[in-house]
Amino acid sequence: MLTNPEETIEACIGCGRCTEVCPFYRATGDERNGAMGKVEAAKVLFDGGTPSAEDLKTLLLCTRCDRCVQECPAEISVPDIVQSARAELRKIGRWPEKCLGIARSIVESGSPMAAAPQERLACLPPGFEPPEKAEYLYLPGCWSGLKLPETARASLQLLIEAGLDVTVLGDKERCCGLFLIDNGMMDEAKAIAEENTLLLESTSAKVVIAECPGCYDVFKHVYPRLFREPHYKVAFISEVLRGLIEHGKLKVRGSGKRVIYKDPCPLARRHAMLEAPRQVLGAVAEVVEFDEHGKDAVCCGAPAGVKALYPEIADKLAKDLMDEVAAKGVEEVGMSCAFCMYHMQGAVKDSDDRPRIRSLSQLVLESVEDRP
Ligand code: SF4
Ligand code: SF4
Repeated sequence: MLTNPEETIEACIGCGRCTEVCPFYRATGDERNGAMGKVEAAKVLFDGGTPSAEDLKTLLLCTRCDRCVQECPAEISVPDIVQSARAELRKIGRWPEKCLGIARSIVESGSPMAAAPQERLACLPPGFEPPEKAEYLYLPGCWSGLKLPETARASLQLLIEAGLDVTVLGDKERCCGLFLIDNGMMDEAKAIAEENTLLLESTSAKVVIAECPGCYDVFKHVYPRLFREPHYKVAFISEVLRGLIEHGKLKVRGSGKRVIYKDPCPLARRHAMLEAPRQVLGAVAEVVEFDEHGKDAVCCGAPAGVKALYPEIADKLAKDLMDEVAAKGVEEVGMSCAFCMYHMQGAVKDSDDRPRIRSLSQLVLESVEDRP
């Protein structure tokens, strides 16, 4: 399901409106690293030329954040061109070994970090024994479940305390395959789509609740195209928490804190899910916005292999966001994506005086009244 890149590249009128909004033009100040630079580099590749080192770099410096798509008068998707270009780079042996290693870990070990399956049990709240079948299936995803288990634990605790009949896959859970999709490895992604859909259906869950915006997009939009429509609905954790708060299943009190909300790219731009996370955060704190937020939110700079290949550029974007946070004088940052969160925490770890970065579930959990 890769698009036809040659046709799309031909449609580009070279207006450059996509350059300035691209986070990698902003982070490097080099126009070649902007979105139009990626179209030009892809043209070299698909015309049968030899991509230069700069061409290669710009094609790898894309998180597929979709920010450029909404600017294009010709309705071109640069992230789709990039996806096809990376598949072509792999064919000609120019895709980096580091990326091949991540892809191998996902296919062979079930996570980008090649974690042992039992590490996924660390996020379970004490005493919780997941039933085999339940109405709701909660999916922490790799970054929340393995790298920031306290965020998945907070969500799961909220779902349990609200009385939901919920389970998890535990050590059977595996990566959704987003990295493979971002890099045009569609055969491998298709195999994972089939396996994961059948695994999720084996719990008889009516609703699958995703913690990660990437998993949410993949389960909801990509798997049905790669495999088939599933027997469950896919929901994002914020939607579920909003419903539980609205219906009084979770009673929360305001903390009086000013918390800035960071929109995750797939949620804001592919699913226009702007209200649910803000309503959840608004129930427990005063919501503060980045200057560019919602559909215009700036990417954190990490996904699709960028953090692994160019950590200093990815960190620059995270630090710029955290500088804005500091300038706004807020107390905390509220996140809906554990990968953004892990990356941003890592990029500013030397500065203890910065506002803390927390998941929305962590912020809600500490505001729940009458906890057992
Ligand atoms: S998807 Fe994002 S990172 Fe990629 S070219 Fe567009 S704006 Fe730049
Ligand atoms: S905005 Fe669209 S038409 Fe203009 S340079 Fe970018 S991809 Fe080409």
